[in-house]
Amino acid sequence: MAGKLYLVATPIGNLEDITLRALKVLKEVDLIAAEDTRHTLGLLNHFGISKPLISYYKQNERAKSETLIKQLLAGKNVAVVSDAGTPGISDPGEEIVKNAIENGVEVVPIPGACALVNALIVSGLSTKEFCFIGFLSAVKKEKREKLEQIKYETKTLILYEAPHKLKATLESILEILGDRNIVLAREITKIHEEFIRDKVSNILQNINEIKGEFVLLIEGSLESKSDIKRRKINELTLDEHYEFYKKQNYSKKEIIKQIAKDRNVNKNEIYQCFLDK
Ligand code: SAM
Repeated sequence: MAGKLYLVATPIGNLEDITLRALKVLKEVDLIAAEDTRHTLGLLNHFGISKPLISYYKQNERAKSETLIKQLLAGKNVAVVSDAGTPGISDPGEEIVKNAIENGVEVVPIPGACALVNALIVSGLSTKEFCFIGFLSAVKKEKREKLEQIKYETKTLILYEAPHKLKATLESILEILGDRNIVLAREITKIHEEFIRDKVSNILQNINEIKGEFVLLIEGSLESKSDIKRRKINELTLDEHYEFYKKQNYSKKEIIKQIAKDRNVNKNEIYQCFLDK
């Protein structure tokens, strides 16, 4: 019978955040696949656990998945851990999970710390709906394209960011998304844990003093793309509205239909206004 694949969350700072179940699974599995074996060895030593470790990081994820699947199919139970938090969240994990599912291996989540969730729940921003972006690309053009893409997203936006890139990222956010309310969730669960809530521009003024690990949360856009379109259309006169679609080569019939739809009125009403067109 095949073994089970456990995705085990580990602390993001404070070691007391490991769960009893995570410790039990780490003690009982045959093998632990770790993003950085030296880092995980420190964690295991702290809790008096001794287990064979195999390295499993982004660059060798695919090849190591094959090796691990063979072990699982041979009946071994395997735990995957990352350096901190929940595996698979901006960390290795996705590849082996897909591979395990394809091979009929049972995959079991062992819940625990995750920086984005803990940053969100104390942010003071809307927790009803959120959009996790992960790390923005290090390539400037791709980073800007992503920000343009999420500009009108009304959900709370959550990013991971390295400290040395924070200033440049905040400058791009200010330029593309505007001076929004943001939250920097710094060093969560660690000694210097801090939550900085302010406008992007104010935070940028004090940026030199900010150090450590961060989650960056951004208030969602107050208007969606369709809200903005609707508002802009409502600001047009009927004639301007007609011209707007005419310039896009719509037929008279299509224009009337579209105007009626935009303004949420009956088509005939609009038709009467443009009898002479
Ligand atoms: N898998 C992890 C999780 O569940 O959150 C995330 C790993 S990702 C490689 C590392 C990033 O997570 C950091 O650059 C930072 O943005 C965020 N992060 C991790 N630990 C954090 C902490 N204690 N405080 C604030 N942000 C943290």
